[in-house]
Amino acid sequence: MSVIFEKSVRGRRGVDLPKCDVPSKGHIDEAYRRGTSLDLCELSELDVVRHFTALSRKNFGVDNGFYPLGSCTMKYNPKALEAVARLEGFTDLHPFMPQLRHGGMLVQGALRVLYELERLLAEITGMDAVTLQPLAGAHGELTGMMLIAAYHRDKGNKKTEVLIPDEAHGTNPSSAAIGGYAVRAVPTDKKTGTLDLEALEQMVGEQTAAVMLTNPSTLGIFNSDIARIVEIAHEHDAQVYYDGANLNAILGRFRPGDAGFDVVHMNLHKTFATPHGGGGPGAGPVGVKKHLVDYMPISRVVKRDDNTYALDYDYPKSIGYIATFYGNFMVCLRAYAYILMLGASGLREASGHAVLNANYLMNRLKDKFKVAVPRTCMHEFVLSAEAEAEKGVHATDIAKALIDEGFHPPTIYFPLIVKEALMIEPTESESKETLDAFVDAMLKISAQVSACPEVLTSAPKSTPVNRPDEVKAARDMDVAWPRDNHEQ
Ligand SMILES: *Cc1c(COP(=O)(O)O)cnc(C)c1O
Repeated sequence: MSVIFEKSVRGRRGVDLPKCDVPSKGHIDEAYRRGTSLDLCELSELDVVRHFTALSRKNFGVDNGFYPLGSCTMKYNPKALEAVARLEGFTDLHPFMPQLRHGGMLVQGALRVLYELERLLAEITGMDAVTLQPLAGAHGELTGMMLIAAYHRDKGNKKTEVLIPDEAHGTNPSSAAIGGYAVRAVPTDKKTGTLDLEALEQMVGEQTAAVMLTNPSTLGIFNSDIARIVEIAHEHDAQVYYDGANLNAILGRFRPGDAGFDVVHMNLHKTFATPHGGGGPGAGPVGVKKHLVDYMPISRVVKRDDNTYALDYDYPKSIGYIATFYGNFMVCLRAYAYILMLGASGLREASGHAVLNANYLMNRLKDKFKVAVPRTCMHEFVLSAEAEAEKGVHATDIAKALIDEGFHPPTIYFPLIVKEALMIEPTESESKETLDAFVDAMLKISAQVSACPEVLTSAPKSTPVNRPDEVKAARDMDVAWPRDNHEQ
């Protein structure tokens, strides 16, 4: 496919601009003037529309196909929420607008949304208070680590390390490290797919600042030992952190706060109506128990006695700012509307469907692919393509072949503790027909592993680029179009 400049034909016009009727003012110094012509491309309107429509079709998104990217929860987000996020009363706000003026109605609605969303998320997770400040899941983890550090500092606790399961998302150890702690990996019991309790008991001690747990884990398993884990940690005055990025598996069924967790983060841009990796800001709100409320970041949204809302900054023990303003307000707004739209019973139904869909897929695939932990899963499960790899077809080849079948590949090579991992998360929004079509594609690929492996190892055939050097693409990216190609 050519770039738009290559389609340019001199003199062809899409629009005619009227002659400038504004008198030119002042004089631009010669040094700042462009020496050459602008050299814009020249095309008809039809050419432009076709060019960009063709480009948009090269993109893969939830709107055009199944996207079972494990851990990322690429589910369908209702379009009604986009309409809510586009309401003028919200989009036309400026962060420096006064909170109260002329009756104070300009930003009161937005503050109310933030206040009520905090209360809703606190209710959903069973925590005492929530901050909407963090701008991503990883940012929420870091905020949580800073809160825990502030708590220990205040109590005079000398704590040096954080314990994290070896199957955790990579952001967990990095957040703990940036939070100032040494990280120690707790092994996973290979049979149950959950944290090795005995190892945890041996590793935990006075030096432990926190135990960080992802539940359901990245293997898609609900850890039924959490009561004991919380107890073990609390015996040593260690805080227990709940990575709630997988909240879509437990909505309306289990609350981390009820199980004794001290801190939890959520990913609004996974569970609550904004796609993960959407390229925009995200939201990783953090919920805490009472004993951590004083340390929460500023600003905080408060409701005053006269029922007005305000941003409050007067918290002497606060860890301070972790973000400025609320640049992710539209993400919060969509989450708020989504929660109200579904209601308590709808959220419960969503988690039920997420788990049902994952188990359906896992059971339909388990005869042809090895399941990493063969037991009832939550919202996602992990396959291991170890046997296929011995025949020369690796997890990455299966992923690439799925592209030719019209599906987005699952997450691969994560979690790290599973060889040739394929991590599949169907999400709650997919129909049985879609899941069946995906199974058909996977079974077809499975048959090809022995019959015609070269079809898989040379896939994808249907994309403009076949197999880029991914390291080079990340480290040495060059997306500039060589202007020398441009004949004028
Ligand atoms: C996605 C995810 C994170 C990180 O969230 P980001 O918003 O991508 O920073 C952390 N933990 C788990 C388990 C996740 O799935």
